[in-house]
Amino acid sequence: MNRIPDIIIAIDGYSSTGKSTFAKMVAAEYGFLYLDSGAMYRGVTLAGLEAGTIRDGKIDQARTLEVMGPLQLNFRQEEGATRLYLGDRCIEKEIRGWEVSQYVSPVSAIAQVRAWVDERLHAFAAGGRVIMDGRDIGTTVFPDAQLKIFMTADAAVRAQRRYEELLLKGEKTTLEEVLENLKDRDYRDSHRETSPLRQAADAYVLDNTHMTLHEELVWVMGLLQGKFAILESPGLSC
Ligand code: C5P
Repeated sequence: MNRIPDIIIAIDGYSSTGKSTFAKMVAAEYGFLYLDSGAMYRGVTLAGLEAGTIRDGKIDQARTLEVMGPLQLNFRQEEGATRLYLGDRCIEKEIRGWEVSQYVSPVSAIAQVRAWVDERLHAFAAGGRVIMDGRDIGTTVFPDAQLKIFMTADAAVRAQRRYEELLLKGEKTTLEEVLENLKDRDYRDSHRETSPLRQAADAYVLDNTHMTLHEELVWVMGLLQGKFAILESPGLSC
């Protein structure tokens, strides 16, 4: 496992393609720090909702930026997981809710929000040996990342997976709404002016429509072994 050097691995891709699950698995397998850049955008969105600067389908941009300025959003490592905190409050659960998901793409399209998040992502990753997932990690945040992976999957399959996850969390929504939300986010994320979602020219594409997690792990192990000329396999842990 330690034969993979202290590189930065950038994972980008469409909504609900399982980027975070995949990145966490690779982080655990190879001893990398996992950082979820989407959580930061979700954290800013949650703060705006709580402060009332985002409501009734509208985002008051100037006031949302005022709320964002002094925010203490930080990742903490707890029980082997990376969790997002707002001050001393763990906000992992709230940021994954349906309301945040509906506003996060327009919030993340604001150039000042992106600059604020990017500065923090660089600081969090300063120690190296990091795997980060998002929409613009391989293109804007870490264009020199030594390994870039672009994840995609059929939209209907992604919606079904996400819908099942939300049901398990007790969220009330329908499959149609989930599909609509992920198509809307993909469109907004790919068409915004600042750092749109793009596949980096040097990214490896992982289409997991018909893949199990185990197959994804085997795929990335082959990629890493080939790229870093490692001959023996570390052995699969899942
Ligand atoms: O990854 P996740 O789905 O949690 O991200 C939530 C939203 O944050 C995305 O739909 C996208 O609008 C935004 N995002 C972004 N750039 C990133 C990560 C996330 O614009 N690097």
